[in-house]
Amino acid sequence: MSINLLYHDVTESGADDASGFAGPEAARYKLTPEEFSRHLDRIANSVTAPALASATDLSSGTGWSITFDDGGVSAITTIAAELELRNWRGWFFIATDFIDQPGFCTQAQLRQLHQRGHVIGSHSCSHPERISSCSWSQLVDEWSRSCKLLAEIVEEPIKSGSVPGGFYSPDVARAASEAGIKLLFNSEPTTGEFEVQGCRILGRYNVYRGMSADDASSLLSSPLRRWRQSAFWSAKKAAKTVAGPIYKAVRKHLLSQVYKPHSAAP
Ligand SMILES: [Zn+2]
Repeated sequence: MSINLLYHDVTESGADDASGFAGPEAARYKLTPEEFSRHLDRIANSVTAPALASATDLSSGTGWSITFDDGGVSAITTIAAELELRNWRGWFFIATDFIDQPGFCTQAQLRQLHQRGHVIGSHSCSHPERISSCSWSQLVDEWSRSCKLLAEIVEEPIKSGSVPGGFYSPDVARAASEAGIKLLFNSEPTTGEFEVQGCRILGRYNVYRGMSADDASSLLSSPLRRWRQSAFWSAKKAAKTVAGPIYKAVRKHLLSQVYKPHSAAP
């Protein structure tokens, strides 16, 4: 069993767009450096198991891991050093179309992360809005082209990936497996895992802005806390299925209200 945490970017307060995808939706998953550091301190106090961070030891991985999606530049400017301070390593999943774009890691920075012992994996090329709706050929293209480019950058085969937006489907996994991915993280909050065509599928627990350090660390130490996130996720999934576009529209509206004062600032 492994417990996997999903983080995104770490950005200074008021500079949400400095790393990773821009906008209020993405900002909900960005922590400030202080918040992030508090999380890691608290986690270090509560768990003793070593972080799972070795793409070469995929079959026997147990324990816990810390993962980061999208490939925002904070991976190299902030996150890596914080992890290394504690002698930890992370998994970084990169949407390759954004490499070298403002706010994202450059090729040289990704190579550096890899050389410092972090795992580099694919997060597709274009980060489709809903990857589970892509055609088979699109899926194969998204995984294989991103893995090929990342392998050229880090000079090693890419064996891990994470599903953009968490939109998992069996075809998403099958296409990832065809591209050589042996370990695929989705965003379902579960410690359960299964295999699709030789590719191990693992869930992850989402960490978001404003989550307390206690709360984040209890995802690792408390089955009850994990169950709470799973229950919430299942309820949300059911609501999305039933309400579909209405849910999306209401959520977008609410978000725009919440972030209005912020974005209206000069
Ligand atoms: Zn993503």
